[in-house]
Amino acid sequence: VQRILLFSGGLDSLALAFGMRPELTLTIDYGQTSFEGEVRAARAAAGALGLRHDVLRADCGSVGLGTLRGEAPLAGAPAAEWWPFRNQLLVTLAAAYAIPRGPTELLIGCVVTDAFHADGRPGFVSALNNLLNLQEGEIQVRAPGIDMTTAELLREHRVPVDVATMAFSCHVGKDVCGECGGCEKFQYAMTEAFPGRM
Ligand SMILES: [Zn+2]
Repeated sequence: VQRILLFSGGLDSLALAFGMRPELTLTIDYGQTSFEGEVRAARAAAGALGLRHDVLRADCGSVGLGTLRGEAPLAGAPAAEWWPFRNQLLVTLAAAYAIPRGPTELLIGCVVTDAFHADGRPGFVSALNNLLNLQEGEIQVRAPGIDMTTAELLREHRVPVDVATMAFSCHVGKDVCGECGGCEKFQYAMTEAFPGRM
């Protein structure tokens, strides 16, 4: 089975890149403010791991919301970075990208703590998989880390600290801000995964 990994350059997808060595890694520029930082990290990490890395540009910024668009979150948003249907959108784009290129398994880096978004829950990933399977192309969607925290996923794949530090998790800009939800999550996971090293 050939695999394609949706690679944001964050810790979760980096752990999957390191541990599962997919044939293709893909970073999507969907109009997020953090794209430059994400693609820089993803390209460097894929290069260091000897993995093929592609970039797909599909500007969906006109339907984006929240910190990933450099805006205040909508009232009632489940998180500051909430972007409606984002995972659905990215899985659809990555699956469509995969079809003429060979991979039949799409890996996504959801972890257990993503469950505060409805689109980060196991039932949602399985529904997405069913939805793709109702269509031509025979693409399977898998989220191997969905029952783990980021730190557990890093340990599961024995990701060394010098690889993990290549990740980029900031939601708000091209450089690490140190303050947003993504940066907080990064710090927390690194401290948990590498006690005494961070
Ligand atoms: Zn940040």
